[in-house]
Amino acid sequence: MATSEELHKRRVEAVARGVGSTIPAYVDRAGGGTITDVDGREWIDFAAGIAVTNVGNSAPRVVEAVRAQVERFTHTCFMVAPYESYVAVCEQLNALTPGGFGKRSALFNSGAEAVENAVKIARHATGRPAVVVFDHAYHGRTNLTMALTAKNMPYKHRFGPFAGEVYRVPMSYPLRDGGLDGATAAARSIEMIEKQVGAENVAALLIEPIQGEGGFVVPAQGFLPALREWATAAGVVFVADEIQTGFCRTGDWFACEHEGVEPDLITLAKGIAGGLPLAAVTGRADLMDAVHVGGLGGTYGGNPIACAAALASMETMRELDLAAAARRIGAVMGERLRAIAAGDPRVVEVRGRGAMLAMEIVVPGTLTPDPAATAAISAACHAAGLLTLTCGTYGNVLRFLPPLAISDDELGRGLDILAAAFG
Ligand SMILES: *Cc1c(COP(=O)(O)O)cnc(C)c1O
Repeated sequence: MATSEELHKRRVEAVARGVGSTIPAYVDRAGGGTITDVDGREWIDFAAGIAVTNVGNSAPRVVEAVRAQVERFTHTCFMVAPYESYVAVCEQLNALTPGGFGKRSALFNSGAEAVENAVKIARHATGRPAVVVFDHAYHGRTNLTMALTAKNMPYKHRFGPFAGEVYRVPMSYPLRDGGLDGATAAARSIEMIEKQVGAENVAALLIEPIQGEGGFVVPAQGFLPALREWATAAGVVFVADEIQTGFCRTGDWFACEHEGVEPDLITLAKGIAGGLPLAAVTGRADLMDAVHVGGLGGTYGGNPIACAAALASMETMRELDLAAAARRIGAVMGERLRAIAAGDPRVVEVRGRGAMLAMEIVVPGTLTPDPAATAAISAACHAAGLLTLTCGTYGNVLRFLPPLAISDDELGRGLDILAAAFG
């Protein structure tokens, strides 16, 4: 087998430079909480392919379901000749997502595509043009979703012009907004919407209940419920982007449940199908069914292999109670992260929920972000066998997203490596 170094040489000559990788190691196999490269080196996995393999890589039920489906048929296109698994995934999403009202779902391939479709549905159902998003938001890399995403480098730089009718308002970010309480932070954002956009022009308010790429920013308690209440009164479609937070990651099936918020529409992807590409919009039946027949779809949306994997993943989450696993991981990891923070003044905050935790890194004694220190700590982790990711508008947040199937031993070894990387 070729070595990682050899494969990297080939990659540089074959793969576009714009596609980056966190580590220059080429994967041979992965499972549970580890990734092994072609040279036999092993990494404890605190990335889960960016919150995708919540059930673990090659989880047994997923492997079996995919194998069985591949042998029956690989693709017919649901818009041409439909099949049961697509319907079954929609039934489960309608039942699992928050909100006791009638729901419908539609399936797509990627998170960005789900977000695009949620905007299409909200605009169509309301007849209004504007979409409101937040500082630090991340919603994808397609043209519309680049406009919805906040950060310029690397996501938007020189890729414009961007889609119109997108308006950005402040996020509740307690560390950096002087600790505004949720209601006050929401009132600030709402006033800006009303004065600068006009509520009657707004189709959708789109928000990540805990921000992902933007820095694992957890809004102050009460922020989401206040926005939800305002949206209802203003006839604005409240869209929760749970693409990173969903499927047991935060210790509930969906992060909105933590404060009892019921979104009108939810966008889902990442953790839904154990690593196969699948995404969904789930929400109120009247909104979802407002769109004319043929108005939603795509060649591969709800591919039968991805649907089989999603059904097996959701069954795994239920049977192994991965929401409880996320809470357990969060308790163990949180304690270790806070111990590291107590001994290192560069860590200004440990935050997140369940198995979605992060540390924000600054110049000691200030709030000045320190992306160089963040990158150095992350590189030390990679060198010592722990795969970590960074995020945040300022590139100064270390984030931890282990598979929910990680063993206690792997989790402990990963945290030991992290503690040592802080030195
Ligand atoms: C990853 C992500 C997206 C985009 O999903 P893709 O599958 O990469 O298109 C959108 N929103 C959030 C919150 C995400 O984390």
